[in-house]
Amino acid sequence: MAPTVTTGSGVMLAVIREGAGVTRSALGERLGWSRVTVGKRLDELLTGGYIVVTGQLDSTGGRRPEAFALNKDAGLLLAADIGGSHSRLGITDLASNVLVEAEVDIDVATGPERVLGWAMEVFTHLLASLGRTKVEVRGIGVGVPGPVDPRSGRLVNPPIMPGWDGVLVSGYFMRHYDAVIAVDRDVNLMAVGEHRVGWPEWDNFALVKLGLGLGVGFVVGGQVFRGAIGAAGDLGHIRRGGNWLCRCGTIGCLEATASGWAIRRELITLGYPIQTSLDIVALANRGNQDALTRLARAGRHIGESLADMVGFLDPSIIVISGNLAAAGEPLLGAIRTEILDRVQPFQATSIRIEPAKVGVKAGVIGASLMAQNALFEPDRVSRATKDWGK
Ligand SMILES: [Zn+2]
Repeated sequence: MAPTVTTGSGVMLAVIREGAGVTRSALGERLGWSRVTVGKRLDELLTGGYIVVTGQLDSTGGRRPEAFALNKDAGLLLAADIGGSHSRLGITDLASNVLVEAEVDIDVATGPERVLGWAMEVFTHLLASLGRTKVEVRGIGVGVPGPVDPRSGRLVNPPIMPGWDGVLVSGYFMRHYDAVIAVDRDVNLMAVGEHRVGWPEWDNFALVKLGLGLGVGFVVGGQVFRGAIGAAGDLGHIRRGGNWLCRCGTIGCLEATASGWAIRRELITLGYPIQTSLDIVALANRGNQDALTRLARAGRHIGESLADMVGFLDPSIIVISGNLAAAGEPLLGAIRTEILDRVQPFQATSIRIEPAKVGVKAGVIGASLMAQNALFEPDRVSRATKDWGK
């Protein structure tokens, strides 16, 4: 791969994308470039249609310095957050503002042909509802509930996704769209979306997604931390002891005792008609002790594992999200108490453990942001706009 051109237009676009509008002088200061270079790169980005001139008039009609912003209307991004049992799809503009969304219960275990085929149909329908067409789609972001190898983009032995091992999700979309495609683990996308919208000032950010399964996503230095094979934060199927059989077929996984799936299994045995995490939440909200006891127990087990994670990674904040997190304090309180009891005193006084602000909709926003990052990858933009400046 060619080395990054550090004075290329792509580097400038990355800075412009961070704000709502940035002036010529602010760009020069921020990038440390000469006025000539700033002018040339701005011309390249304007000619390429990547940016627009904005905010030249203030509210009193006076003139403000010329500012530049991402041309968010120059195309569309498709965003898919495919969960284990529930999926959300959305279409956004190029700045990841959601224009239309849809969600449905669909079991990922029905296999890639069925699930991705369904996603393709819904996107066609959503595009039509906006009166837009396929050719306007510039980028696609897809989250899946299993590890994705960051090098190959293929799924790696996903425990609850029979038929998906080795599947190249981008391949399905490439058959239908001429667009840049980014695929990642669902919880990573949720972490990216929640971080950007709800907690942008927090570095060393960890998001715990609790639903029927559980997983953690990390955003460190503004980037997702994925690990060697894309399995960082995949805590659900680590063996923590006990004799419960997990849905992955192994005995003693964390998910076998501390997940919506495990709680559902026990409540069904007790005669409750539970299907989704939200059914468990509804039962708990009515004060049902069978549900509350199990949520508290799950919280303690999850907190125990998260305390280990705090020891390894020292996050500044842990945000609890996912459908099961809607149970509130009975679950969150147990997680918080267990973490604070176990970590070192100086960590207990500094770490924040908070409920999500954006919640389950963060997955679609995160998928769109990942598509945006892939589409506007600096080298890609620099190459595409080379020699377009005056
Ligand atoms: Zn398991």
